Amino acid sequence: MVFLEKLKNFISMDVADENETKKASVIMRCTSLTLFFFFLIQVIILFATGYPRGAVVSIACMLGYLAAFVMTYQGYTVVTQHFIELLTLGWVAAFVAIMGWDCSYQHMIFSLMLFSILTSYQTIYYKGVFAFTLCLFRILLYFYIHTHDPYYDVSKSAMYLLNITNTFFAFLLFFIVAVLFSTDSMQMEEKLVKYNKKIEKLAKTDALTQLPNRRDALERIEKHLKRSRDTDFFLDIAIGDIDFFKKVNDTYGHEAGDAVLVQMANLFRNDMGEDGFVARWGGEEFLFVYTRVNGDEAAMKLNDLKKKITSTVFKYNTIEMKLSMTFGLQEYDFHSSIDDIVNAADEKLYIGKTQGRNQVVF
Ligand code: GH3
Ligand code: MG
Ligand code: MG
Repeated sequence: MVFLEKLKNFISMDVADENETKKASVIMRCTSLTLFFFFLIQVIILFATGYPRGAVVSIACMLGYLAAFVMTYQGYTVVTQHFIELLTLGWVAAFVAIMGWDCSYQHMIFSLMLFSILTSYQTIYYKGVFAFTLCLFRILLYFYIHTHDPYYDVSKSAMYLLNITNTFFAFLLFFIVAVLFSTDSMQMEEKLVKYNKKIEKLAKTDALTQLPNRRDALERIEKHLKRSRDTDFFLDIAIGDIDFFKKVNDTYGHEAGDAVLVQMANLFRNDMGEDGFVARWGGEEFLFVYTRVNGDEAAMKLNDLKKKITSTVFKYNTIEMKLSMTFGLQEYDFHSSIDDIVNAADEKLYIGKTQGRNQVVF
């Protein structure tokens, strides 16, 4: 098992070149290894059944695929791909000519086509021409061997053995290439989906407090309005602004201010619960959106929160701070725009600030 794990890591090792992809190299490595073992078995069969020239060609092919395997680690992906194509076409033609059509060496052309299409980054036009060339190659090979006698008059038993082996390896290689490609595609897709979700979350979240940001808040309100158009629903929007927050920064430093914002955000999130959501509106201003209670209830909740804030000790290292917050609250009137409601809440917040702060204006 340890050996298999090591082999897997070795085969899936990344290529040296940064702009070459790993997928094509891995397919090439597995193809080279499969064909290397294919020819190892050919050597044994051909020697054992008395076709030494075929065995010598097989040894040359083994060395060729070994070279291809090594080349993928040097970053020569495109060169290796064409090398494998030429080598494979070469030996298919040679073995059909030596051993005849009935040993089924020609099956490998199908696997080669799949290999080429899935490892090449050429255009579909190029791939089409390549596939057509392979098709033509196979047809010509067929007519050649049916108009010329093969080099060996292969015995029935050797032919059966070779036919089975060659058919099996052609299918095996087809299977390996297809599985490697589809697994890689699925992994890539999974990665992309995860990555997109992460990016989406980052674009919607305030980095410091992890609350929804202004853009996400507006989107959520719009969604709520659309969803609730035909039914009874609640929407109360409040803007809360920390009182004399500049003093926190000036007295204890910006980092202390940041720590306060994070603690405030946690306090707001817990307090809001399932009644709606809190977003960071900007700086030390937060947007409170209540979607399950009416304006009066929202005002009560905000008054409770206001008390919670004044009784909380905010901490940064050894520093302890007491703070307060002013809120402007506006209930949705079923016809204004979101902007109008937010502006109304903002005006009430301003009134609260001029009236002495630490209060909810509704
Ligand atoms: P008021 O009671 O009138 O709201 O007074 P204030 O000092 O809170 O108001 P002001 O708007 O003058 O100051 C807000 C301060 O908030 C200024 C700015 O440096 C600070 N601030 C805004 N965003 C951040 C932040 O992300 N981190 C920190 N540490 N400070 C911030
Ligand atoms: Mg402010
Ligand atoms: Mg302030």
